[in-house]
Amino acid sequence: MENSSDPDFFGMCHKCGEKVLGEGSGCTAMEKVYHIQCFTCHICHTELRGKPFYAMDGKPYCEEDYLNTLEKCCVCEKPILDRILRATGKPYHPNCFMCVVCGKCLDGVPFTVDATNQIHCIDDFHKKFAPRCCVCKEPIVPESGKTETVRVVALDRSFHVNCYKCEDCDLLLSSEAEGRGCFPLDDHILCRSCNAKRVQEITAP
Ligand SMILES: [Zn+2]
Ligand SMILES: [Zn+2]
Ligand SMILES: [Zn+2]
Ligand SMILES: [Zn+2]
Ligand SMILES: [Zn+2]
Ligand SMILES: [Zn+2]
Repeated sequence: MENSSDPDFFGMCHKCGEKVLGEGSGCTAMEKVYHIQCFTCHICHTELRGKPFYAMDGKPYCEEDYLNTLEKCCVCEKPILDRILRATGKPYHPNCFMCVVCGKCLDGVPFTVDATNQIHCIDDFHKKFAPRCCVCKEPIVPESGKTETVRVVALDRSFHVNCYKCEDCDLLLSSEAEGRGCFPLDDHILCRSCNAKRVQEITAP
């Protein structure tokens, strides 16, 4: 008798290659026929008929083993089902990819990492690591919209461009502008004329 003419013939089992006889002993999954006892998880061999399963490379996996094959987010350690955001070589859920300081999601947003690969938004990175102005004690960060920081370094100290002033008369100093150069005296930032005044006072009889 031909296989196909047997009224009980359900198909050939994709797993073991034997005939599946009777609808009750077989099942169809991924367009293939299996014995019920042959349709099992590729990893743990649990029978999967009637259970949720996932197909990978044509092989069925139970839910748990499927999730275990997925890459885990390096922040929440849960499997990543959708898009993997990869940064500094590590996988993230897009929602878990956030600034370690303010918690802002940085998916599609410029970010930077510190020496230990901690993710920072640009603002917080500058706030945390930028040099501090010795006059106002605030961090010196790029002007909004710019990427480069402009600062003045004098006497081994950093200054905001607008904080680099004569200590005596508040004249804004600049190494580039004529007549506004810095004439430091004993670690004090002074303009030329205030420097001259102080020198006079010191040397006055
Ligand atoms: Zn089989
Ligand atoms: Zn399994
Ligand atoms: Zn996550
Ligand atoms: Zn931040
Ligand atoms: Zn300042
Ligand atoms: Zn001055």
